[in-house]
Amino acid sequence: MPIRCDAAALSAAESDARSRDARSPDRLATSPHPSAMDRRAFLRLGGYAGLAGLCWGLLPARFADAAGPVYCNPNRPTTPADAMAALMAGNGLWATGNQQHPGEDTTRRDCVAQNDQTPFAAILSCADSRVPPALIFDQGLGDLFVVRVAGNSNTAVGQQSLTYGVNKLHALALLVLGHQGCGAVSTAVTSFPRPAPAFVSLIYPAVRKARLIVQQGGGNPDDPTQVIPVAIEQHALMTAAQLSVRTPFKDLIRNGSLIVAAGVYSLDNQAVTILT
Ligand SMILES: [Zn+2]
Repeated sequence: MPIRCDAAALSAAESDARSRDARSPDRLATSPHPSAMDRRAFLRLGGYAGLAGLCWGLLPARFADAAGPVYCNPNRPTTPADAMAALMAGNGLWATGNQQHPGEDTTRRDCVAQNDQTPFAAILSCADSRVPPALIFDQGLGDLFVVRVAGNSNTAVGQQSLTYGVNKLHALALLVLGHQGCGAVSTAVTSFPRPAPAFVSLIYPAVRKARLIVQQGGGNPDDPTQVIPVAIEQHALMTAAQLSVRTPFKDLIRNGSLIVAAGVYSLDNQAVTILT
């Protein structure tokens, strides 16, 4: 007998599974997640489990997580290196004015609404309105897990969010992104070393290092125009380095399931340069 993978066959299978569940209400009552039990009950039914396996591509999304996450982005990278490559490829499109705005259509909107999120990259970036990660990397709904704070510093809450992004959502790359003309870094350079709000003083270690680099290069460490660009790079680098030695990032890096990198976005040419 040929296997039918059309919507009518799947609908009939679903109806049959639900009627069996209705005859066994005690089984549903033991589940803390009735909808998940619906799916398991459906897939436990021998003949229909075979149908599910054979017709996987046509299964309604509500059934699919019984065997793993549903990736709404059909081109979702599968390795950390591919994740970085996808970010840079998207930025290349953006920087040359060829952005595709992928993953904004009805199919993606419906998919992310019906399934758990599966971002392939986590971004720690500045709150600056000129540096929106999804646009400058030309990525779609559900692709990027983004933490934004003025000055792209690492904070306790931010680190907890990033931990969720890599630990629970399995983002493959974590990019700390600074940018040209960052007001927070500029304020830190001109305020250093006086007391300042945390979002400024968190940048002071990078300012200290940038002043040293400028001085060692024969420049003037008291000239903000010389120190600010260096401080922007150093702050992204130091923040990435800070995250890289902390749990859970260091363990994920060690087992090859995460890349942590630093980059800087140019307002002039809209290109991201990776620093690590
Ligand atoms: Zn900024």
